[in-house]
Amino acid sequence: MPNMIVCVKQIADPEAPPGSFKVDEAAKQVLPAAGVSQVVSPFDEQAVEAALRIKDAQGGKITVLSLGKNFVMDVIKKPLSMGADEMILLQDPAFEGSDSHTTAYALAMAIKKVGEYDLIFCGRQAADWDAGQVGSGIAEILGIPAITPAKNVELVNGNVKVERVVTDGYEVIEASTPLLIMVSNELGEPRYPKLKGIMAAAKKEVPTWNAQDIGADAAKLGAGGARAKVHKLFIPVKEGKCEIIEGENPEDAAVNLALKLRER
Ligand SMILES: Cc1cc2nc3c(=O)[nH]c(=O)nc-3n(C[C@H](O)[C@H](O)[C@H](O)COP(=O)(O)OP(=O)(O)OC[C@H]3O[C@@H](n4cnc5c(N)ncnc54)[C@H](O)[C@@H]3O)c2cc1C
Repeated sequence: MPNMIVCVKQIADPEAPPGSFKVDEAAKQVLPAAGVSQVVSPFDEQAVEAALRIKDAQGGKITVLSLGKNFVMDVIKKPLSMGADEMILLQDPAFEGSDSHTTAYALAMAIKKVGEYDLIFCGRQAADWDAGQVGSGIAEILGIPAITPAKNVELVNGNVKVERVVTDGYEVIEASTPLLIMVSNELGEPRYPKLKGIMAAAKKEVPTWNAQDIGADAAKLGAGGARAKVHKLFIPVKEGKCEIIEGENPEDAAVNLALKLRER
């Protein structure tokens, strides 16, 4: 039965109105948005769903890892209420100022500490920064192959059969484990947690590991280890102009519109 690990990120609700997002341009930081709730990144819910479908068919164990700060326990425990078995949070001031590489490094070190794994699932991208890099980074650091982005994952005779999204459809790839898969929204709706799952998740102890627990090299973490440099962080200004074309009736307005367009 496969040992599966799913990496899940807590983010500000991407469905919140754009006006609620604020950045500190000088500090190049996103400011916590007042009144915007935290959610599990939607692609990561699909990654959990992909693991659960394998568990439904073949059994196995699902461990969820999340790296971040200010975790809202009712939110981050959602994968447990959906049916995952264990969850470990990674939280330490040493992770502050992370980029894709240092995030991948910390998660890879935590995965090594978890121990045996056959499949690692990530979302195709986190729905806040949309980098789409962490999954491939984890695979690189662990020295295992990665397939991204996946719309369906099955275990067939011990091998993994992945339907990989391409621009004009999908291709089917078979691979052996251990393997990392970044899951796309084409997988379909993640399941809703049931009341029993929500109650079990509420009672579940969730350990928190820090940088020392995962045996990470401090120089490779957070801002100090980051390879990406943010030069500018700003909210683009969008300007729109609207001109109402008048007329006696719709036909007349259409004629006026056509005349205006010809003029331009
Ligand atoms: C603690 C922390 C501090 C940060 N500080 C800064 C900062 O100061 N300045 C700045 O510009 N940016 C900061 N970031 C953002 C950081 O640069 C991005 O999170 C990083 O580049 C990864 O990009 P992404 O989030 O778009 O992930 P992607 O590469 O798009 O993620 C792909 C997948 O990887 C997994 N994954 C990604 N992140 C996590 C996570 N945290 N936990 C579990 N799984 C994950 C998920 O499965 C996700 O679907 C910080 C992030 C963290 C976690």
